[in-house]
Amino acid sequence: MTALSPASRCLCRDCLTEHEAAGALRRCPACGSPRLISHVELDTLSLAHIDCDAFYATIEKRDDPSLQDKPVIVGGGKRGVVSTCCYIARTYGVRSAMPMFKALKACPEAVVVKPNMQKYVVVGREVRQMMRELTPLVEPLSIDEAFLDLSGTERLHHASPALTLARFAKRVEGELGITVSIGLSYAKFLAKVASDLDKPRGFSIIGRNEAVSFLEDKPVGLIPGMGPASVAKLAEAGFKLIGDLREAPVEKLFRLAGKDGPRLKNLANGIDPRQVTPERETKSVSTETTLDVDLARFEELEPILWRLCEKTSKRLKAAELAGRTVTLKLKTADFHSITRATRLPEPTQLAARLFAAGRDLLKRECNGQRYRLIGIGMSDFSAPAEADHGDLADTATPKLKAMEGALDKLRARFGDEAIGKGLSLRLPQRRSPEPATSRKAPEEEDPDA
Ligand SMILES: [Mg+2]
Repeated sequence: MTALSPASRCLCRDCLTEHEAAGALRRCPACGSPRLISHVELDTLSLAHIDCDAFYATIEKRDDPSLQDKPVIVGGGKRGVVSTCCYIARTYGVRSAMPMFKALKACPEAVVVKPNMQKYVVVGREVRQMMRELTPLVEPLSIDEAFLDLSGTERLHHASPALTLARFAKRVEGELGITVSIGLSYAKFLAKVASDLDKPRGFSIIGRNEAVSFLEDKPVGLIPGMGPASVAKLAEAGFKLIGDLREAPVEKLFRLAGKDGPRLKNLANGIDPRQVTPERETKSVSTETTLDVDLARFEELEPILWRLCEKTSKRLKAAELAGRTVTLKLKTADFHSITRATRLPEPTQLAARLFAAGRDLLKRECNGQRYRLIGIGMSDFSAPAEADHGDLADTATPKLKAMEGALDKLRARFGDEAIGKGLSLRLPQRRSPEPATSRKAPEEEDPDA
């Protein structure tokens, strides 16, 4: 919160000048901008959470100015869901993860844009690179958000962390044409909460002095990671507001929320000792699709799986990653999730090898059950140089690698649609599928805006 007090320091986010604020300044004395941040701890707080605003939608608007003043939804398919929607669409009640038909009912004039993950990955990387220029302590949470620990960077940047962050936001707007929101605090949890307080183009501060009182009357659901089920369970036991958790007996919270219980009490008291851990590597790359109609037959699901394998492979190649564990994800018509995984003899980037493993997993799950969603993911990464060598028993892989490489080049030149999406590249049956090893769900493709 930008709590004003007579002793507040004040920073203009437009002209980046700092002022002593003797009282509540409404406009910057230097440039007249109202975009001031002011806080008694402005010079001492250094833990930030940065989150791009409506990331996919903002990129699409940037690249097509005719969309600028229109409600834009990035998402797809008849039964697909909203990946990201712009702030105009949000005023109609459209939200991320909302089924598309519902979103279009709320906002029939919305322009729907198909996601272009490759493009978003490139922009995400540019943002990440700029973050790393501020501090090596960057902990990405998804393609478009990260924690940054800016303590000790004052000398390097000749600026307080707050000023460094304001410069960053301005630079991102100027160089990448997208906007970010910043939360600044002393603890991760509060920085994340703060970045969400005044989106888009936000900059909010929660300091040590007001953390507990700020949290007091906020709903428990504000705590990152608290799902509706946990919220309902806690509410039933009388814990509706974060303030209610402050004095709660730890044993009771433990019974209600397991090992998360004591943590909740700490958070309610403004205590979150977690450090920023730099460079949480990408743990998995996956692609999934919600089917237009529920499907049960292997023959119907197989070509869809192939297309997903092609997409996943493309993303692996773009990220310069090769994976060894293949995970198939299915969701039944009645919303049960199933994941099945297998480990390959060597890492791969190739759609054909991913598909060969994926189809073995799929075949075993085609037992009459109808599915509404199918996805395929890769994890257990190594460098591409270690991938797809084959060996004396496997001479097909190097050939596949050459073929896929040639096709990728054609696609890069003529577009995805130019090349047939048949099953032409698929391998014959894989000989010795290994048993499922992991039940971990692959990383979601669409971050929340
Ligand atoms: Mg975001």
